[in-house]
Amino acid sequence: MSDTAARAAEGEVRFEGVQKAFGSSLAVRGLDLTIRGGEFLSLLGPSGCGKTTSLRMLAGLEFPTAGTISIGGRVVNAVPPGERDIAMVFQSYALYPHMTVAENIAYPLKKRGVPKPERETRVAKVAETLQLTPLLPRKPRQLSGGQQQRVALGRALVRDPRVFLLDEPLSNLDAKLRHHMRAELIELHARLGRTFVYVTHDQLEAMTMSDRIAVMQDGVLQQLGTPTEVYNQPANLFVAGFIGSPAMNLPRARVMDGRVVHPAFHLRVAGRDAPAVGSEVVVGLRPEDITLGAGPFAARVRLVEPTGHEQIAVLALEGGEALTVRADAEMPLRAGDALQWGVRAARLHLFDAHSGRRLDAALAA
Ligand code: ATP
Repeated sequence: MSDTAARAAEGEVRFEGVQKAFGSSLAVRGLDLTIRGGEFLSLLGPSGCGKTTSLRMLAGLEFPTAGTISIGGRVVNAVPPGERDIAMVFQSYALYPHMTVAENIAYPLKKRGVPKPERETRVAKVAETLQLTPLLPRKPRQLSGGQQQRVALGRALVRDPRVFLLDEPLSNLDAKLRHHMRAELIELHARLGRTFVYVTHDQLEAMTMSDRIAVMQDGVLQQLGTPTEVYNQPANLFVAGFIGSPAMNLPRARVMDGRVVHPAFHLRVAGRDAPAVGSEVVVGLRPEDITLGAGPFAARVRLVEPTGHEQIAVLALEGGEALTVRADAEMPLRAGDALQWGVRAARLHLFDAHSGRRLDAALAA
């Protein structure tokens, strides 16, 4: 096996039929997920969906009530956290306030009995990687939030674990710093080539950093795919509504004789996965896939929010339903205006209204 292949194999994480019950409620239900060695995988979903519980089971801080978890091909269900060769970075940085930055970073090595000279060399190397060298003598309270987060990362990095677990590590930072740290994490991941498992409810973080995203809801994995896949081919209504900001419009419609018919618009539908006549469907229209100013359908502008580089407008369709659209900053749009609109039909989505499943039928204007 080549070095790269060996490293990939040792960093592979596998959940097989993993379940976690707290009393009578199931926080994680039958999770089957293989994370490739060296991959940056995000567990993404709303609060309470089971992502932290999944990560904590991987860390050994919770125990699955069914199923197996393996790291690098070894089942770790009964392996204590300290022997899993993983490092975890939390939302609260959990630094020791009475220790200096250098002592905080060195702590995991000290606990494992690594001799002082080697500790110092490794701390110096990690500090250089994370640009912490000038801060090594300081105490955590003398650091900004971003610097504290880098120290927490440093403490994880210093052991060179095969898997990094990160639980919402950026959520205590302000928007600008979050953006900066996202870029740093991407670079760090590329440089280390280690497996990163990243828990977040922030789709932007997941979309910008991940190789793949596992979208969860109610303890169930909804879709596993690259950021492009979950955005362009959401597997079901939940993923469709959760990924994208502003959110995808999801009006209900009915299928009639080769058409999807809504009170305010209709589209031709064809293809192998086309729904049966009479069935109820949901049409997925992203705000950027709606064209304004021309087109076969009529609406009235209800609200306009300029964001600087573009405008987000809410239209009232015939029948009153709202439709969120993105428009160029220059487009003249005023509340109360009547306008025509159309769609980029090839970019629309269709779902079964009852099961929520994506239908791979072709829509046309
Ligand atoms: P958040 O983003 O809010 O952290 P999450 O997606 O990470 O949410 P979990 O923390 O994994 O979700 O929680 C999943 C479910 O399990 C929730 O309903 C939660 O209330 C429940 N839960 C988590 N830990 C415990 C516990 N120790 N005892 C009982 N229930 C728990």
